[in-house]
Amino acid sequence: MNATEIVKSPGIPHKVEMVQKAIEKRIPVMSEIEFAYRYKGESKMVCITGSNGKTTTTSICYDMFLKDNQDVSVVGNIGYSFARQIATKPTAWYVMEISSFQLDDIIDFRPDIAVITNITPDHLDRYNYDFSLYTKAKFKIAMNQTKEDYLIVCKEDKATNDYLNEHILNPKILFFTMNESLNTDGAYVNGNEMMIRVNGEPFSISINDLSLKGKHNQYNSMAAGISSRVAEIRNTSIRESLRTFSALEHRMETVAFIRGIEFINDSKATNLNSVWYALESIQKPIVLILGGVDKGNDYSEIESLVKEKVKCIVCLGVDNSAIHRAFDSKVTILDAKNIDDAVRYAYEQAANGDVVLLSPACASFDLFKNYEDRGEQFKNSVRAL
Ligand code: ADP
Repeated sequence: MNATEIVKSPGIPHKVEMVQKAIEKRIPVMSEIEFAYRYKGESKMVCITGSNGKTTTTSICYDMFLKDNQDVSVVGNIGYSFARQIATKPTAWYVMEISSFQLDDIIDFRPDIAVITNITPDHLDRYNYDFSLYTKAKFKIAMNQTKEDYLIVCKEDKATNDYLNEHILNPKILFFTMNESLNTDGAYVNGNEMMIRVNGEPFSISINDLSLKGKHNQYNSMAAGISSRVAEIRNTSIRESLRTFSALEHRMETVAFIRGIEFINDSKATNLNSVWYALESIQKPIVLILGGVDKGNDYSEIESLVKEKVKCIVCLGVDNSAIHRAFDSKVTILDAKNIDDAVRYAYEQAANGDVVLLSPACASFDLFKNYEDRGEQFKNSVRAL
Protein backbone atom coordinates (compact mmCIF):
# COMPACT_ATOMS: atom_id res chain seq x y z
CA MET A 1 0.00 0.00 0.00
CA ASN A 2 1.58 3.18 -1.22
CA ALA A 3 -0.29 6.24 0.06
CA THR A 4 0.47 9.07 2.44
CA GLU A 5 -3.17 9.50 3.42
CA ILE A 6 -6.42 7.71 2.66
CA VAL A 7 -9.84 9.34 2.34
CA LYS A 8 -12.40 6.63 3.14
CA SER A 9 -16.01 6.52 2.02
CA PRO A 10 -18.24 6.37 5.12
CA GLY A 11 -19.93 3.18 3.91
CA ILE A 12 -16.70 1.17 4.33
CA PRO A 13 -16.33 -0.28 7.82
CA HIS A 14 -13.01 -0.25 9.67
CA LYS A 15 -12.83 -4.02 9.83
CA VAL A 16 -12.28 -4.28 6.04
CA GLU A 17 -8.82 -5.69 5.29
CA MET A 18 -7.55 -2.70 3.31
CA VAL A 19 -8.43 -0.29 6.10
CA GLN A 20 -6.84 -2.58 8.68
CA LYS A 21 -3.64 -2.70 6.62
CA ALA A 22 -3.55 1.09 6.38
CA ILE A 23 -3.99 1.39 10.13
CA GLU A 24 -1.20 -1.14 10.72
CA LYS A 25 1.08 0.85 8.43
CA ARG A 26 0.12 4.04 10.29
CA ILE A 27 -1.25 5.63 7.12
CA PRO A 28 -3.82 8.23 8.25
CA VAL A 29 -7.38 7.22 7.26
CA MET A 30 -9.85 10.06 7.26
CA SER A 31 -13.37 10.85 6.18
CA GLU A 32 -14.20 13.18 3.34
CA ILE A 33 -15.46 15.92 5.70
CA GLU A 34 -12.07 15.90 7.44
CA PHE A 35 -10.24 16.18 4.12
CA ALA A 36 -12.48 19.05 2.95
CA TYR A 37 -12.23 20.81 6.31
CA ARG A 38 -8.60 21.66 5.61
CA TYR A 39 -9.65 23.85 2.71
CA LYS A 40 -12.60 25.67 4.20
CA GLY A 41 -10.63 28.80 5.13
CA GLU A 42 -12.54 31.37 7.16
CA SER A 43 -15.93 29.86 6.35
CA LYS A 44 -18.14 28.69 9.19
CA MET A 45 -20.08 25.50 9.64
CA VAL A 46 -23.33 24.37 11.24
CA CYS A 47 -23.08 20.57 11.49
CA ILE A 48 -26.06 18.40 12.31
CA THR A 49 -25.99 14.78 13.39
CA GLY A 50 -28.30 12.48 15.39
CA SER A 51 -30.37 9.34 14.95
CA ASN A 52 -33.51 10.98 13.56
CA GLY A 53 -34.35 14.37 12.14
CA LYS A 54 -30.95 15.17 10.61
CA THR A 55 -32.19 15.90 7.10
CA THR A 56 -35.21 17.84 8.30
CA THR A 57 -33.24 19.95 10.79
CA THR A 58 -30.48 20.60 8.25
CA SER A 59 -33.01 21.62 5.60
CA ILE A 60 -34.90 23.98 7.92
CA CYS A 61 -31.65 25.55 9.07
CA TYR A 62 -30.43 26.00 5.48
CA ASP A 63 -33.78 27.55 4.58
CA MET A 64 -33.43 30.07 7.43
CA PHE A 65 -30.00 31.08 6.12
CA LEU A 66 -31.36 31.39 2.57
CA LYS A 67 -34.31 33.50 3.72
CA ASP A 68 -31.72 35.75 5.39
CA ASN A 69 -29.82 36.12 2.09
CA GLN A 70 -26.68 34.55 3.52
CA ASP A 71 -23.90 33.15 1.33
CA VAL A 72 -24.64 29.52 2.26
CA SER A 73 -24.66 26.00 0.86
CA VAL A 74 -26.13 22.76 2.16
CA VAL A 75 -23.68 19.84 2.08
CA GLY A 76 -22.98 16.36 3.38
CA ASN A 77 -25.77 13.85 3.07
CA ILE A 78 -27.89 16.46 1.27
CA GLY A 79 -26.58 18.40 -1.71
CA TYR A 80 -22.98 18.03 -2.79
CA SER A 81 -20.30 16.52 -0.63
CA PHE A 82 -18.48 19.07 1.51
CA ALA A 83 -15.32 18.58 -0.61
CA ARG A 84 -17.08 19.10 -3.92
CA GLN A 85 -18.82 22.23 -2.68
CA ILE A 86 -15.56 23.71 -1.41
CA ALA A 87 -13.76 22.82 -4.66
CA THR A 88 -16.44 24.21 -6.97
CA LYS A 89 -18.32 26.96 -5.15
CA PRO A 90 -17.09 27.84 -1.68
CA THR A 91 -19.52 29.77 0.52
CA ALA A 92 -19.26 31.75 3.76
CA TRP A 93 -21.47 29.26 5.62
CA TYR A 94 -21.92 25.52 5.24
CA VAL A 95 -24.95 23.81 6.74
CA MET A 96 -24.04 20.15 6.87
CA GLU A 97 -25.82 16.88 7.63
CA ILE A 98 -23.36 14.33 9.01
CA SER A 99 -23.76 10.65 9.83
CA SER A 100 -21.88 8.99 12.66
CA PHE A 101 -19.93 7.05 10.02
CA GLN A 102 -18.51 10.34 8.72
CA LEU A 103 -17.64 11.36 12.28
CA ASP A 104 -15.83 8.08 12.95
CA ASP A 105 -12.89 9.28 10.86
CA ILE A 106 -12.39 12.92 11.76
CA ILE A 107 -9.14 14.27 13.14
CA ASP A 108 -9.27 18.09 13.37
CA PHE A 109 -12.79 18.70 12.07
CA ARG A 110 -14.35 21.37 14.27
CA PRO A 111 -17.87 22.75 13.75
CA ASP A 112 -18.60 26.29 14.91
CA ILE A 113 -22.12 25.15 15.69
CA ALA A 114 -22.90 21.47 16.21
CA VAL A 115 -26.30 19.83 16.72
CA ILE A 116 -27.10 16.34 17.99
CA THR A 117 -30.85 15.94 17.37
CA ASN A 118 -31.23 12.79 19.51
CA ILE A 119 -29.55 9.43 20.07
CA THR A 120 -31.64 6.27 19.75
CA PRO A 121 -30.55 2.78 18.68
CA ASP A 122 -29.82 2.55 14.94
CA HIS A 123 -26.98 1.09 12.87
CA LEU A 124 -25.81 -0.78 15.95
CA ASP A 125 -24.31 -3.45 13.71
CA ARG A 126 -21.48 -1.00 12.93
CA TYR A 127 -20.75 -0.49 16.65
CA ASN A 128 -20.49 -4.10 17.89
CA TYR A 129 -24.08 -3.77 19.14
CA ASP A 130 -22.74 -1.46 21.83
CA PHE A 131 -25.01 1.57 22.30
CA SER A 132 -22.36 3.48 24.24
CA LEU A 133 -19.96 3.24 21.26
CA TYR A 134 -22.66 4.65 19.00
CA THR A 135 -23.31 7.50 21.45
CA LYS A 136 -19.59 8.19 21.60
CA ALA A 137 -19.45 8.34 17.80
CA LYS A 138 -22.18 10.98 17.73
CA PHE A 139 -20.37 13.08 20.33
CA LYS A 140 -17.23 13.10 18.20
CA ILE A 141 -18.91 16.07 16.54
CA ALA A 142 -17.82 18.07 19.61
CA MET A 143 -14.38 16.57 20.20
CA ASN A 144 -12.39 19.46 18.68
CA GLN A 145 -14.77 22.22 19.66
CA THR A 146 -13.47 25.02 21.88
CA LYS A 147 -15.25 27.29 24.29
CA GLU A 148 -15.99 29.66 21.39
CA ASP A 149 -18.19 26.99 19.77
CA TYR A 150 -21.71 25.77 20.42
CA LEU A 151 -23.19 22.33 20.92
CA ILE A 152 -26.99 22.12 20.69
CA VAL A 153 -28.67 19.05 22.17
CA CYS A 154 -32.05 17.68 23.27
CA LYS A 155 -32.55 18.01 27.02
CA GLU A 156 -34.78 14.95 27.44
CA ASP A 157 -32.67 12.59 25.36
CA LYS A 158 -31.43 9.92 27.74
CA ALA A 159 -28.25 8.88 25.93
CA THR A 160 -27.27 12.53 25.46
CA ASN A 161 -27.76 13.23 29.15
CA ASP A 162 -25.89 10.13 30.25
CA TYR A 163 -22.95 11.16 28.11
CA LEU A 164 -22.96 14.76 29.31
CA ASN A 165 -23.08 13.61 32.92
CA GLU A 166 -19.92 11.59 32.43
CA HIS A 167 -17.87 13.97 30.26
CA ILE A 168 -16.77 17.56 30.47
CA LEU A 169 -16.99 19.23 27.07
CA ASN A 170 -15.48 22.50 25.84
CA PRO A 171 -18.29 24.13 23.84
CA LYS A 172 -21.18 26.18 25.16
CA ILE A 173 -24.04 23.71 25.44
CA LEU A 174 -27.56 24.91 24.59
CA PHE A 175 -30.58 22.70 25.19
CA PHE A 176 -33.92 22.39 23.49
CA THR A 177 -36.79 20.77 25.36
CA MET A 178 -40.50 20.07 25.31
CA ASN A 179 -40.70 19.26 29.03
CA GLU A 180 -39.86 22.46 30.87
CA SER A 181 -39.44 26.22 30.56
CA LEU A 182 -35.79 27.21 30.48
CA ASN A 183 -34.53 30.39 32.06
CA THR A 184 -31.19 30.06 30.28
CA ASP A 185 -30.33 30.37 26.59
CA GLY A 186 -31.84 27.54 24.53
CA ALA A 187 -35.33 26.67 23.32
CA TYR A 188 -38.52 25.21 24.75
CA VAL A 189 -42.21 24.80 24.10
CA ASN A 190 -44.57 26.20 26.71
CA GLY A 191 -48.23 25.50 25.92
CA ASN A 192 -48.71 26.83 22.41
CA GLU A 193 -45.57 28.97 22.28
CA MET A 194 -42.12 28.01 21.10
CA MET A 195 -39.43 30.15 22.72
CA ILE A 196 -35.86 30.46 21.48
CA ARG A 197 -33.30 32.48 23.41
CA VAL A 198 -29.68 33.19 22.50
CA ASN A 199 -27.47 35.74 24.26
CA GLY A 200 -30.48 36.64 26.36
CA GLU A 201 -32.48 37.76 23.32
CA PRO A 202 -35.85 36.04 23.08
CA PHE A 203 -37.74 34.94 19.98
CA SER A 204 -41.17 33.33 20.12
CA ILE A 205 -43.58 31.80 17.65
CA SER A 206 -46.94 30.06 18.08
CA ILE A 207 -46.92 26.31 17.45
CA ASN A 208 -50.00 26.86 15.28
CA ASP A 209 -47.89 28.96 12.91
CA LEU A 210 -45.34 26.19 12.27
CA SER A 211 -45.77 24.74 8.80
CA LEU A 212 -44.35 21.33 9.78
CA LYS A 213 -46.61 19.40 12.11
CA GLY A 214 -45.82 16.90 14.86
CA LYS A 215 -43.72 16.96 18.01
CA HIS A 216 -40.66 15.69 16.18
CA ASN A 217 -40.76 18.74 13.95
CA GLN A 218 -41.04 21.01 16.96
CA TYR A 219 -37.77 19.50 18.16
CA ASN A 220 -36.24 19.93 14.69
CA SER A 221 -37.49 23.52 14.48
CA MET A 222 -36.03 24.37 17.89
CA ALA A 223 -32.64 22.87 16.96
CA ALA A 224 -32.56 24.74 13.65
CA GLY A 225 -33.81 27.94 15.29
CA ILE A 226 -31.13 27.99 18.01
CA SER A 227 -28.41 27.30 15.43
CA SER A 228 -29.62 30.17 13.28
CA ARG A 229 -29.90 32.58 16.20
CA VAL A 230 -26.33 31.69 17.23
CA ALA A 231 -25.29 32.48 13.63
CA GLU A 232 -27.09 35.82 14.00
CA ILE A 233 -29.76 35.07 11.44
CA ARG A 234 -32.52 37.67 11.83
CA ASN A 235 -35.71 36.78 13.69
CA THR A 236 -37.86 37.74 10.69
CA SER A 237 -36.03 35.21 8.50
CA ILE A 238 -36.40 32.48 11.13
CA ARG A 239 -40.10 33.22 11.52
CA GLU A 240 -40.71 33.23 7.78
CA SER A 241 -38.92 29.94 7.38
CA LEU A 242 -40.80 28.23 10.21
CA ARG A 243 -44.11 29.42 8.76
CA THR A 244 -43.52 28.37 5.17
CA PHE A 245 -41.08 25.44 5.12
CA SER A 246 -42.74 22.53 3.31
CA ALA A 247 -42.36 18.83 4.10
CA LEU A 248 -39.48 17.00 2.46
CA GLU A 249 -40.10 14.15 0.07
CA HIS A 250 -40.63 10.75 1.80
CA ARG A 251 -40.98 12.35 5.26
CA MET A 252 -44.60 12.72 6.32
CA GLU A 253 -45.32 13.87 2.78
CA THR A 254 -49.01 14.15 1.92
CA VAL A 255 -49.42 12.48 -1.46
CA ALA A 256 -53.15 12.78 -2.17
CA PHE A 257 -56.66 12.89 -0.75
CA ILE A 258 -58.89 10.25 -2.33
CA ARG A 259 -62.54 10.03 -1.23
CA GLY A 260 -61.59 11.92 1.93
CA ILE A 261 -58.71 9.55 2.77
CA GLU A 262 -55.31 11.20 3.18
CA PHE A 263 -52.30 9.21 1.92
CA ILE A 264 -49.01 10.04 3.64
CA ASN A 265 -45.58 8.87 2.47
CA ASP A 266 -43.16 8.49 5.40
CA SER A 267 -40.92 5.95 3.66
CA LYS A 268 -37.84 7.47 5.32
CA ALA A 269 -39.11 6.18 8.69
CA THR A 270 -36.76 3.21 8.88
CA ASN A 271 -36.83 2.80 12.66
CA LEU A 272 -39.50 2.68 15.36
CA ASN A 273 -38.62 6.01 16.89
CA SER A 274 -39.60 7.71 13.62
CA VAL A 275 -42.84 5.74 13.41
CA TRP A 276 -43.67 6.72 16.99
CA TYR A 277 -43.44 10.41 16.04
CA ALA A 278 -45.37 9.84 12.81
CA LEU A 279 -48.25 8.19 14.70
CA GLU A 280 -48.10 10.81 17.42
CA SER A 281 -48.49 13.65 14.92
CA ILE A 282 -51.68 12.33 13.29
CA GLN A 283 -55.05 13.04 14.89
CA LYS A 284 -57.21 10.81 12.64
CA PRO A 285 -57.76 7.01 12.49
CA ILE A 286 -54.80 5.39 10.74
CA VAL A 287 -54.29 2.45 8.42
CA LEU A 288 -50.57 1.79 8.82
CA ILE A 289 -48.38 0.17 6.19
CA LEU A 290 -45.49 -1.36 8.11
CA GLY A 291 -42.63 -3.77 7.45
CA GLY A 292 -39.55 -4.56 5.38
CA VAL A 293 -36.18 -5.69 6.64
CA ASP A 294 -36.48 -5.63 10.41
CA LYS A 295 -33.33 -4.33 12.16
CA GLY A 296 -34.30 -5.93 15.49
CA ASN A 297 -37.35 -3.81 16.27
CA ASP A 298 -39.04 -3.98 19.67
CA TYR A 299 -42.58 -3.19 18.61
CA SER A 300 -43.77 -2.63 22.17
CA GLU A 301 -42.37 0.91 21.72
CA ILE A 302 -45.34 1.82 19.53
CA GLU A 303 -47.92 -0.50 21.08
CA SER A 304 -49.92 2.09 22.99
CA LEU A 305 -50.08 4.48 20.00
CA VAL A 306 -51.12 1.60 17.74
CA LYS A 307 -53.91 0.64 20.16
CA GLU A 308 -55.07 4.24 20.36
CA LYS A 309 -54.90 5.27 16.70
CA VAL A 310 -54.36 2.39 14.27
CA LYS A 311 -57.39 0.52 12.96
CA CYS A 312 -55.50 -1.82 10.66
CA ILE A 313 -51.89 -2.75 9.85
CA VAL A 314 -50.93 -3.77 6.33
CA CYS A 315 -47.61 -5.64 6.34
CA LEU A 316 -45.28 -4.97 3.45
CA GLY A 317 -42.27 -7.24 3.76
CA VAL A 318 -40.94 -10.63 2.82
CA ASP A 319 -40.94 -11.74 6.46
CA ASN A 320 -43.69 -10.18 8.58
CA SER A 321 -43.55 -12.59 11.51
CA ALA A 322 -42.28 -10.05 14.07
CA ILE A 323 -45.17 -7.70 13.30
CA HIS A 324 -47.68 -10.53 13.61
CA ARG A 325 -46.21 -11.62 16.94
CA ALA A 326 -46.43 -8.08 18.28
CA PHE A 327 -49.90 -7.10 17.08
CA ASP A 328 -51.95 -10.20 16.12
CA SER A 329 -54.25 -10.04 19.10
CA LYS A 330 -54.52 -6.24 19.10
CA VAL A 331 -55.45 -5.04 15.64
CA THR A 332 -56.49 -6.33 12.22
CA ILE A 333 -53.41 -7.32 10.18
CA LEU A 334 -53.27 -7.97 6.46
CA ASP A 335 -50.28 -9.22 4.48
CA ALA A 336 -49.35 -7.69 1.13
CA LYS A 337 -46.86 -9.11 -1.32
CA ASN A 338 -46.12 -5.89 -3.16
CA ILE A 339 -46.76 -2.16 -2.92
CA ASP A 340 -49.82 -2.19 -5.21
CA ASP A 341 -51.53 -4.76 -3.00
CA ALA A 342 -50.53 -2.88 0.15
CA VAL A 343 -52.02 0.38 -1.12
CA ARG A 344 -55.18 -1.36 -2.35
CA TYR A 345 -55.74 -3.24 0.96
CA ALA A 346 -55.14 -0.04 2.92
CA TYR A 347 -57.57 1.88 0.72
CA GLU A 348 -60.23 -0.80 1.24
CA GLN A 349 -59.80 -0.66 5.02
CA ALA A 350 -59.84 3.15 5.27
CA ALA A 351 -62.93 5.33 5.49
CA ASN A 352 -63.59 8.99 4.76
CA GLY A 353 -61.56 11.04 7.27
CA ASP A 354 -58.89 8.35 7.83
CA VAL A 355 -55.19 8.42 6.99
CA VAL A 356 -53.25 5.75 5.11
CA LEU A 357 -49.69 6.06 6.40
CA LEU A 358 -46.62 4.36 4.91
CA SER A 359 -44.18 4.48 7.84
CA PRO A 360 -42.43 1.13 7.65
CA ALA A 361 -40.03 1.06 10.67
CA CYS A 362 -37.77 -1.12 8.55
CA ALA A 363 -35.18 -0.96 5.81
CA SER A 364 -36.50 -1.42 2.30
CA PHE A 365 -34.10 -3.68 0.44
CA ASP A 366 -36.23 -6.86 0.51
CA LEU A 367 -38.68 -5.40 -2.04
CA PHE A 368 -37.15 -2.06 -3.10
CA LYS A 369 -33.84 -0.50 -4.10
CA ASN A 370 -33.92 1.97 -1.21
CA TYR A 371 -36.34 4.12 0.79
CA GLU A 372 -36.70 6.63 -2.08
CA ASP A 373 -37.72 3.83 -4.45
CA ARG A 374 -40.23 2.56 -1.85
CA GLY A 375 -41.69 6.08 -1.46
CA GLU A 376 -41.88 6.65 -5.24
CA GLN A 377 -43.61 3.31 -5.80
CA PHE A 378 -46.05 4.11 -2.99
CA LYS A 379 -46.89 7.44 -4.60
CA ASN A 380 -47.36 5.83 -8.01
CA SER A 381 -49.67 3.18 -6.56
CA VAL A 382 -51.73 5.81 -4.74
CA ARG A 383 -52.06 7.91 -7.87
CA ALA A 384 -53.17 4.83 -9.82
CA LEU A 385 -56.08 4.10 -7.46
P1 ADP B 1 -32.61 11.49 9.25
O1 ADP B 1 -31.98 12.36 8.22
O2 ADP B 1 -31.93 11.58 10.59
O3 ADP B 1 -32.84 10.08 8.82
P2 ADP B 1 -35.13 12.76 8.57
O4 ADP B 1 -35.23 14.22 8.85
O5 ADP B 1 -34.89 12.32 7.18
O6 ADP B 1 -34.06 12.11 9.55
O7 ADP B 1 -36.46 12.07 9.11
C1 ADP B 1 -36.56 10.65 9.02
C2 ADP B 1 -37.80 10.17 9.71
O8 ADP B 1 -37.69 10.39 11.10
C3 ADP B 1 -39.04 10.90 9.23
O9 ADP B 1 -39.82 9.92 8.64
C4 ADP B 1 -39.69 11.50 10.45
O10 ADP B 1 -41.00 11.00 10.58
C5 ADP B 1 -38.83 11.06 11.63
N1 ADP B 1 -38.29 12.18 12.41
C6 ADP B 1 -37.93 13.39 11.94
N2 ADP B 1 -37.44 14.15 12.94
C7 ADP B 1 -37.46 13.40 14.07
C8 ADP B 1 -37.07 13.62 15.43
N3 ADP B 1 -36.57 14.80 15.83
N4 ADP B 1 -37.26 12.60 16.30
C9 ADP B 1 -37.77 11.43 15.90
N5 ADP B 1 -38.17 11.16 14.64
C10 ADP B 1 -38.01 12.12 13.72
